[in-house]
Amino acid sequence: MTQPNPWRATILTLFPDMFPGPLGVSLAGKAQAAGLWALEARDIRDSATDRHRSVDDTPAGGGPGMVLRADVLAAAIDAADAAPDRQKDRPRLLMSPRGRPLTQSQVMELAAGPGPLIVCGRFEGIDQRVIEARRLEEVSIGDYVLSGGEIAAMVLIDACVRLLPGVMGKLASGADESFSDGLLEYPQYTRPQEFEGRPIPEILLSGDHARVAAWRQAEAEALTRARRPDLWAARARDQKRPKNATEG
Ligand code: SAH
Repeated sequence: MTQPNPWRATILTLFPDMFPGPLGVSLAGKAQAAGLWALEARDIRDSATDRHRSVDDTPAGGGPGMVLRADVLAAAIDAADAAPDRQKDRPRLLMSPRGRPLTQSQVMELAAGPGPLIVCGRFEGIDQRVIEARRLEEVSIGDYVLSGGEIAAMVLIDACVRLLPGVMGKLASGADESFSDGLLEYPQYTRPQEFEGRPIPEILLSGDHARVAAWRQAEAEALTRARRPDLWAARARDQKRPKNATEG
């Protein structure tokens, strides 16, 4: 099963000990052990040059907190890219609340590539010049502020890894899942047949695959409409667009 050049996530962090963390168990952990993907956590501090190995400094212009230094971080990125087996054209991401919100379609794109290099910020963030000079693409996992980029990076990697070939077996396409067709997923049920007076919807026990599929589609649509009017509207727009139209 082991591939010569598996999908690889390279993390630049001040806390490499946080990895693999939750990525070391269950599906992702087994797949990593099987060589289906690789994780490399590199310590940004290894690229510090002064006696105190400092990585941050006070913000220019004043204000609270500390900012990660451009020179140290750039050196860390360059060192990660200089490793002999590295693909030069992999995506370079910076986890950041200012970034473009992560979506399932971006996850699918990242999973289909060689795997990203991911910079995790800490403190007040990182010096703007390294974002520009190393062309980091800022990615957010939602409109709230975390204390560091590590958990955000884990979210992104987890979402990618489960889509890699062989990781989820038959489920790998994820075709039926929330977001894959612009809809939230329909409700799921399993045994027992009755729970606290609530039966499983009868249709699901009918064995009629066409009716089951129609029911699930209707549930998914109703749920999306009620909970995510934004997704619902986007889907309506997509469906109006001619099939050969390009993104933009
Ligand atoms: N002062 C910054 C927040 C820094 S939070 C601001 O207001 O934009 C410290 C680090 O946590 C960030 O550099 C980033 O790497 C990470 N982080 C925080 N919230 C995040 C989010 N919603 N998505 C992705 N990364 C996030």
